[in-house]
Amino acid sequence: EPTESVILRCEDVTVEFDGFKAVRGMNLALARGELRFLIGPNGAGKTTLLDVICGKTKPAAGKVLFGASAAIDITRMKEHRIAELGIGRKFQTPSIFASLTVYENAELAMKQKRGVFAAMRARLRPEERDRIAAQLEMIGLADKARLRAGGLSHGEKQWLEIGMMLLQEPEILLLDEPVAGMTDDETARTGELLREIRKTRSVIVVEHDMEFVRTFASKVTVMHEGRLLTEGAMDEVQRDGRVAEVYLGK
Ligand code: ADP
Repeated sequence: EPTESVILRCEDVTVEFDGFKAVRGMNLALARGELRFLIGPNGAGKTTLLDVICGKTKPAAGKVLFGASAAIDITRMKEHRIAELGIGRKFQTPSIFASLTVYENAELAMKQKRGVFAAMRARLRPEERDRIAAQLEMIGLADKARLRAGGLSHGEKQWLEIGMMLLQEPEILLLDEPVAGMTDDETARTGELLREIRKTRSVIVVEHDMEFVRTFASKVTVMHEGRLLTEGAMDEVQRDGRVAEVYLGK
């Protein structure tokens, strides 16, 4: 990638758990506005790499660089600081408040963005309300704003959570298996949502559903045993014998 378009760079990242190397000298460069899929068999180190990028796990070696031309070294920054800088992470389990309405959940996300003191101001400004309305529209939940979030379908809960992340205006979204457990229809709608999101943000998606990945013309990064196995377009990656081998097991 040309340096000026890079928004995130992992350089030689190694993660150890009690001496076991879950990630081994991993490199990755994400361009601004790119949607990247991170694939590989179970235990390849994909989730751990996302954990390193969002600051949840600190690497034993290597660097994570973020921002215009990847100029900010975030390797040792605290997780909340990295989130403030603009890296949003969505985990597999939804973290929405089931007893609150869809709108109230969105309102909380919006207030979180303001910071602690401003968050205590009870009322949202009109432009903040407009922003929430537009966000709920984008995730297809405008009609369900007044419903309890706990009553939403699995897919709708995932979209709400993505919408809540977007209200905090991250530059990069990290998503862990966003279509896991979704119906075919929900999966297709999630695909549309990702296409919409990438118009304004960069996204890394860890994904097991290869059919889903194939519906995008995106670059795919394949990890195996903590390392970069190969990288490229999905059809190229699939023609690579090593990829089939690691998926089938030896
Ligand atoms: P993937 O997301 O590709 O399935 P993970 O990043 O979850 O892989 O895990 C990579 C390897 O690191 C696995 O062998 C896993 O068991 C191990 N691992 C992940 N997290 C921890 C942890 N907190 N402590 C010890 N080992 C871990």
